[in-house]
Amino acid sequence: MRDSQKAKRFVPVLGALAVALAVFISLKSRYGGGVPPTVIFVVMDTLRADRTSLCGYEHPITPKLEELVERGATFACNSHSPSTWTLPSHATFFTGLGPEDHQAGSGGNTKGMTWGSVTPLGPRLPTLAEEMAARGYQTLLLSGNPVVGERMGLTRGFDHAVVARSYPEMHDHRLADRLKLILQYLALDPDRPLFAFINIADPHAPWRGIPKGLGFLPARPPMMIDPGRARFESGEMGEEEAEAWLSHLSDVYDYSVLRADRSLTQVLEALEAEGWLDAEYRLVITSDHGEYLGEHRLVEHGRPYFYEPVTRVPLLYLSTEGEVRLPDDVPSIVVHSLARDGVLPEPLPSGLASVFRKGSERSSVAVPCSSSSAALWLRASKLVANRGEIVRFDLASDPTEEHPLPAGNHPAAAKLLEYCRALDRAYASRPVPDAELSEALSAQLKALGYLRDDDEPPPPQPSKPH
Ligand SMILES: [Zn+2]
Repeated sequence: MRDSQKAKRFVPVLGALAVALAVFISLKSRYGGGVPPTVIFVVMDTLRADRTSLCGYEHPITPKLEELVERGATFACNSHSPSTWTLPSHATFFTGLGPEDHQAGSGGNTKGMTWGSVTPLGPRLPTLAEEMAARGYQTLLLSGNPVVGERMGLTRGFDHAVVARSYPEMHDHRLADRLKLILQYLALDPDRPLFAFINIADPHAPWRGIPKGLGFLPARPPMMIDPGRARFESGEMGEEEAEAWLSHLSDVYDYSVLRADRSLTQVLEALEAEGWLDAEYRLVITSDHGEYLGEHRLVEHGRPYFYEPVTRVPLLYLSTEGEVRLPDDVPSIVVHSLARDGVLPEPLPSGLASVFRKGSERSSVAVPCSSSSAALWLRASKLVANRGEIVRFDLASDPTEEHPLPAGNHPAAAKLLEYCRALDRAYASRPVPDAELSEALSAQLKALGYLRDDDEPPPPQPSKPH
């Protein structure tokens, strides 16, 4: 071969190298020496920690989470969600602030999500997506949960937001299928870093049936939460029927967790296939709340009660950047800092959860937690405040929270009452959405099955201290 021919062959190679070098230099100069990592923030909606095999559950339903840990992820099994339902928890994840600051939420009275006071995340506080955009990120939200949408104020700051209109719409492979389409056709800029928020909603009702042959779970028909829930919670359901109904519920929930874990696999594969995980990345995974599966005669989520089934969630972090070690009881509000900066906030925030309650007027604000209820975790001690009353649970000796203890003298009781006052003030001064938006929110939540008729009998109150 003549030298000139050889030289010609090298031209395209050298050209490609030059382009790669130019891209590298331009990224370096744009981002001050380091290309920002791809940031993937996943909420596995309605996932309780004790129902993941990652955190010791008997059935192998979260193999992907376990594989991520084998690959070096740090994780916590005693993390607690900031609230008991989707809107306030996501508002906290997106602002790094609790409901006392962002004011989003409400609606969770003892009867369920009664309409009248749902407040979306307002425009006042910067969101994670806006902060990432300001750092040069292109931002993408894909949610299988319809509540994580524009009307709730949760898509602010995202360049692209694709949100399911109903719960099953993006269950199973349909979520990752949508993501693949987005990644292929959205013309994302390969030279700019990506922040992607993904809500995997498979564990949220309604639940799919279980096919034959799964082995550790029996074949089951699909399950709607109603009308069984109302009959079970009111005590109308006989003992034998309740046992069968709860067993069905438990199995289809487990299967939904397995399906969520599969969705996570597919989501990560889709991102990998498009090269978004080739270089530096951060992966943050948690849940926005758990789910009652009959404990304390409660089913589903969203009430002003903070028993462990609805607040204890897993938190997992995997990054190519360096070491972060999560304390096992790290509060899940830290996902904001992990996603934005790749570090835990200092000092670590307290383990707090709260929810606004509909129907309280200013006259009762003198009693702390009259417009809200709240919980505070201090290792094995858990304090819960409700209408001025505080009880404590010792989770080490009483993990199922059957025995509330008096908490008046506990050193953290005053702190929790102060938190209640801040919540009540936030509730009283919250911006009430205009009538048109109220109607739209109401219609959406009703269509999703969140709103109940006011004549539904409330579930029993938590028992009083002995
Ligand atoms: Zn949720």
